Amino acid sequence: MDVEQLKALVRDVPDFPQPGIVFKDITPLLADEIAFSSVIDLIVVHFGRGSVDKVVGIEARGFILASPVAYHFGAGFVPVRKKDKLPWETESEEYELEYGTATLEVHRDGVDPGERVLIVDDVLATGGTARATARLVERIGGKVIGIAFLIELGFLKGRQQLDGYDLFTLISY
Ligand code: AMP
Repeated sequence: MDVEQLKALVRDVPDFPQPGIVFKDITPLLADEIAFSSVIDLIVVHFGRGSVDKVVGIEARGFILASPVAYHFGAGFVPVRKKDKLPWETESEEYELEYGTATLEVHRDGVDPGERVLIVDDVLATGGTARATARLVERIGGKVIGIAFLIELGFLKGRQQLDGYDLFTLISY
């Protein structure tokens, strides 16, 4: 399945969750057995088996993609979640949203020192979420070897927030 076929399975939902946002709904792609497995394969092939110790998924849609990626790498899965969702000792990172701020957390023992980490999320928009996640991973001793997104909204210039990281994105707008 090529990128144009994958793109055809992403649904634009205008004014969700608020006016002016065009939400990229990936549920039709996830529900297509060929598309879902192709996306996972493309991410794993790009970075290569043996290159990753832990895969970090960002709540919530990032979990859906990061878990099968971790399985195919033979790597562990580590969740990054919104504030106060994780039960154990955490590190927190606050970051700017268009209006206000948000906080992401990871368990302090989620990654062993020096482990190679791939971060996975569904959409790269302004880049704040991924940057906060990369900082969390580094703070607990991980080495971020790459960040993979299913979708990049290029016009929001999120890449500029992620300078120095190896980014892999499948579908661009
Ligand atoms: P950002 O921090 O601006 O890069 O936003 C990234 C996070 O917000 C990701 O976890 C996405 O799931 C979500 N997100 C941002 N914009 C969109 C959009 N247009 N459609 C779907 N999800 C989005």
